[in-house]
Amino acid sequence: MRMSKLFISTLRENPTDAEVASHQLLVRAGFIRRLTSGVYNYLPLMLRVLRKVENIVREEMNAAGAQELLMPVLQPAEIWIESGRWQIYGKNLMRLKDRHERDCCLGPTHEEVITTIVKNEINSYKRLPVNLYQIQNKFRDEIRPRFGLLRGREFIMKDAYSFHVTHECLLKEYDNMAKAYTKIFKRCGLDTRMVQSDSGTIGGSVSHEFMVLTHTDSGENDVLYCDTCDYSANSDRAESILLTANTDGGFAGSEVVDTPAVTTIENLAQFLNVEESTICKSMIYIVDKEPVLALIRGDQAIEEIKLMNAAGGNEIRIASDVEVDHYLEKSNIHSSKGFIGPKGINFRIIADLSVKDLKNFVVGCNQTDKHLVGANWDSDIGLPETITDIRLAQKGDKCPVCEGHLLITRGIEVGNIFQLGIKYSKAMNATFQDENGQINPYIMGCYGIGVSRTAAAVVESYYDDNGIKWPMSVAPYHVIVIPVNVKDQEQLNIADNLYKKLLTEGIEVVIDDREDRAGVKFKDADLIGFPLRITCGKTLSEGNVELKNRMTGELKTISLEEIIPIVKNLVVTNIMPKTSEAEYAKC
Ligand code: ATP
Ligand code: MG
Repeated sequence: MRMSKLFISTLRENPTDAEVASHQLLVRAGFIRRLTSGVYNYLPLMLRVLRKVENIVREEMNAAGAQELLMPVLQPAEIWIESGRWQIYGKNLMRLKDRHERDCCLGPTHEEVITTIVKNEINSYKRLPVNLYQIQNKFRDEIRPRFGLLRGREFIMKDAYSFHVTHECLLKEYDNMAKAYTKIFKRCGLDTRMVQSDSGTIGGSVSHEFMVLTHTDSGENDVLYCDTCDYSANSDRAESILLTANTDGGFAGSEVVDTPAVTTIENLAQFLNVEESTICKSMIYIVDKEPVLALIRGDQAIEEIKLMNAAGGNEIRIASDVEVDHYLEKSNIHSSKGFIGPKGINFRIIADLSVKDLKNFVVGCNQTDKHLVGANWDSDIGLPETITDIRLAQKGDKCPVCEGHLLITRGIEVGNIFQLGIKYSKAMNATFQDENGQINPYIMGCYGIGVSRTAAAVVESYYDDNGIKWPMSVAPYHVIVIPVNVKDQEQLNIADNLYKKLLTEGIEVVIDDREDRAGVKFKDADLIGFPLRITCGKTLSEGNVELKNRMTGELKTISLEEIIPIVKNLVVTNIMPKTSEAEYAKC
């Protein structure tokens, strides 16, 4: 490719709406352009990267025994009604009506479609197991589309679905996919961690996420991991051993005391001269439009996803001031927000396990500017019926497996695997006949990879102040050849010769034949992130070119005779080969 012909324009400034590196750099380097919120054009360089990621995904999935198909994006509401998700998927589902007023949606995921296919095609155990996948644009009307390709409303996903006779068979395929995922991300240059996760609206009981660890905001997930064993989990489901603390407030008997305008736990602890761990914190959330009062020990925080799951809901948010007033009124309580407590509340209460041990504690009593001190569950309030883990596990907590210390980092979720079980097959009456002639629902697994998010995660992992540093395996091109002065005909000829030779060697190469100054060309080469840069300039007089490795920053002078084999070798050795089918079959 000649740079003068390449459909690209690089920008000097970061776009104003771009907060994270991958978003800024992919726009600045001319890879993507926004069409509307969360929807991007993939320009030629981006498409080359995406195709490479897709190919890696495809090669590993195929070697792991999965088969590719392609399902429609447009889906009828009926199958979503059948699975029960038409209601619960909520606003993320892009819904539309066709000309006959029939409800449809644009696929955010394809459990319903694949289950319908397999239900119609396979009715005997003899044709199971099977694992089918596709690579396709997905649509989700995300509440906060942001960070460029990391969280779009239209994005590319690889989604795979497996169907089994037994749970053991599912577990085997789950491991097989976990292995394939680790390999896929490694081949893209990404170091991932497989972490336990919440299953969300996809469902099923066991699921894991593949996280690229970052230390920036681009990682939307908090990942807790143990410093001693290999326990790691998304914070939305991480467990920990509760830190021991003093849970006895030391008050002799309960009484209501004045706490004028003291509404935060910190201030309350100071005001009453007690430890935060002797206070019961009360907060009102809205879960699927219903109020829930959540209780937790004062020095701990609530994990909203755990609370949402405990309430059996699909959406959660903290109640607004107006809602708090409204639901308190309904319980005949006329208190302002900072003084709420469980007593007298006539809607659902969910308490964290941490409140169980509280004694002579401090708690809101639903009277403005007052708290109850010296409270005990038995004598004063009554322990709520639902007591479960809704606590956010935090850095420094003890590991639930080995009691080591939990550490925290941020992570970008690039893939996700789920043991679905019979959730969809049962709801959609998708069954097969087993060896004994019995009719059973298929046991299912599903496995997703965000292809476009993975490409962005690569940028998040490899960049510097000058631009992107693509790993060879997913770089849009391997090499850029820069003639420093295109007006120097001899220089241009040598560069052009090199370019053509590299092409015949199967190297993906761009020649920067533009009439711009060398500085501009070097800047663009760094910004776009070509892994190798060959500069044809002054050193040509001694028969040498300069080779720069973008990833390592290393600069070398190399003779014209040697440059081709050296470049070829660098390209080949920096691309991990695909895994063989035999390798997957081993386990
Ligand atoms: P998240 O928690 O980040 O919203 P999810 O759990 O909803 O992800 P899945 O439904 O499991 O994701 O989708 C499979 C993969 O698709 C994810 O692991 C992620 O890499 C990718 N993905 C999901 N939502 C988006 C999005 N809005 N933009 C880009 N990629 C996405
Ligand atoms: Mg999501």
